[in-house]
Amino acid sequence: MTATAPMIGELAREIEAVVGPQGLISRPEQLRVYESDGLTVFRQAPALVVLPVTTEEVRDVVRLCRRYGVPFVPRGSGTGLSGGALPVEGCVVIGLSKMQRIHEVDLANQRIVVEPGVLNLWVTQKVAPHGYYYAPDPSSQQVCSIGGNVAENSGGAHCLKYGFTVNHVLGMEIVTPDGDVVEIGGAAVETPGYDLPGIFVGSEGMLGICTKITLRLVRRAESIRLSLVAFDSTDAAGEAVSGIIGAGIVPSAIEMMDNLAIQATEAATHAGYPLDAGAVLLVELDGRAVEVDEQQGQVEAICRAAGATEIRIARDAEERTLFWKGRKAAFAAMGRLSPNYIVQDGVIPRTKLPQVLREIAALGEQYGLRVANVFHAGDGNLHPLVLYPDKDDYERAEHLAGDILKTCVAHGGSITGEHGVGVEKQPYMSAMFTEADMETHQMIRCAFNPGNLCNPGKVYPTPRLCGETPGKYTPHPLELAGVADRF
Ligand SMILES: Cc1cc2nc3c(=O)[nH]c(=O)nc-3n(C[C@H](O)[C@H](O)[C@H](O)COP(=O)(O)OP(=O)(O)OC[C@H]3O[C@@H](n4cnc5c(N)ncnc54)[C@H](O)[C@@H]3O)c2cc1C
Repeated sequence: MTATAPMIGELAREIEAVVGPQGLISRPEQLRVYESDGLTVFRQAPALVVLPVTTEEVRDVVRLCRRYGVPFVPRGSGTGLSGGALPVEGCVVIGLSKMQRIHEVDLANQRIVVEPGVLNLWVTQKVAPHGYYYAPDPSSQQVCSIGGNVAENSGGAHCLKYGFTVNHVLGMEIVTPDGDVVEIGGAAVETPGYDLPGIFVGSEGMLGICTKITLRLVRRAESIRLSLVAFDSTDAAGEAVSGIIGAGIVPSAIEMMDNLAIQATEAATHAGYPLDAGAVLLVELDGRAVEVDEQQGQVEAICRAAGATEIRIARDAEERTLFWKGRKAAFAAMGRLSPNYIVQDGVIPRTKLPQVLREIAALGEQYGLRVANVFHAGDGNLHPLVLYPDKDDYERAEHLAGDILKTCVAHGGSITGEHGVGVEKQPYMSAMFTEADMETHQMIRCAFNPGNLCNPGKVYPTPRLCGETPGKYTPHPLELAGVADRF
């Protein structure tokens, strides 16, 4: 049921009593700011936007939405690339961007307690003077929020060695879709019972709203060395990646960019990437100085054996930042090549890199569209960027992007590495999961979010259970086997 205008008006008055007039947005032109996330092809203005500043306010707003039967959509900074924070018709967007307090810095236990609106980079900035940092570093880290990172299980260049968001969240305070405030996980590294933070991280806003997060901090390594390595082709660069990992070296990051990506990022950042290279790798090593020295020699030998044409080591922290700037600005730099593009996100076993990149190039030719590649090569997380000059070509580009995902799955990979499923990848869920798999996933959603008011219409193409399916009820195979109950 879609809420009626009088009902929304009444709800708005009650919400305003909770958050005050400064915490409520209801004017149509202001609501349009929230009509999409970073995936702007999907748009839907919400009925209301609420900007709470405390957990109690979030809780009370959720309780009101529940009482009125109105869906609500959590939102951080809105940089998501799969439509996770896309409003549904008649919904209330609960924006967490005003919850920006850092509650506790506990260096002795290597942890920090933050609110969800704290930006990713602020965590590192807060603890950097003491020699610590927060390891998961999405390229959007200057603007994306920790709450959004948690919901998407975000990754970044340094997740190869240090793990994704899920490996850095110790505990959370969440407001459940029923409006209860609960703690999951804790300050300790291990807690008894189910790994509830593990379930919540990556749940794309469907299981509740996190309002406080305890994060793990990592000690800055004694030595960091970043090399920019050029190759004639992505095949040769891919061979070097496999060679490095195969030699037992785990760099803190290995990133690859192909020639099209180099052209775009150089035009935007002037980071000094070689314009004539078929591909470049950024290989960063960290650890004890003696260990880094030793591994640097091995990495250079492996890269030369794979055909490296140039190896440039960043001279100092300033040049290191410049090299990284080229990589981290790559998505945005695509605007230099094409006014429109789709950022795709798939995963493959890293040994399949050369073959899959060739298949992506062939798909590009088949569809008559250019595809640039910039990605986390070390963990096989591809980000093909499908360029389409004309808006009318969107459907063709979308088909090509979909075929790339199917290629990833066919090679034993996945339809998303870090950007989530959201609404964009719903059609491809069945390429990875059977109906029974997805219904099993949905049982977890139903346990947290039985009324399906919390971020409905995301991830699962055909929502079932919780009384959502019109028509005859068909028991799930797990129910028939007597190992799961219907809620
Ligand atoms: C240029 C660019 C580069 C990017 N690079 C990377 C990258 O390297 N790695 C990567 O992983 N991603 C990357 N992203 C994607 C995006 O930045 C991440 O997914 C990020 O975690 C989203 O954070 P956000 O605060 O913008 O969340 P939003 O987009 O606002 O929301 C994302 C999801 O989180 C949910 N959510 C938000 N806050 C909460 C909360 N407090 N509680 C519960 N659910 C919540 C929303 O409902 C939604 O489903 C990039 C995006 C851009 C635009």
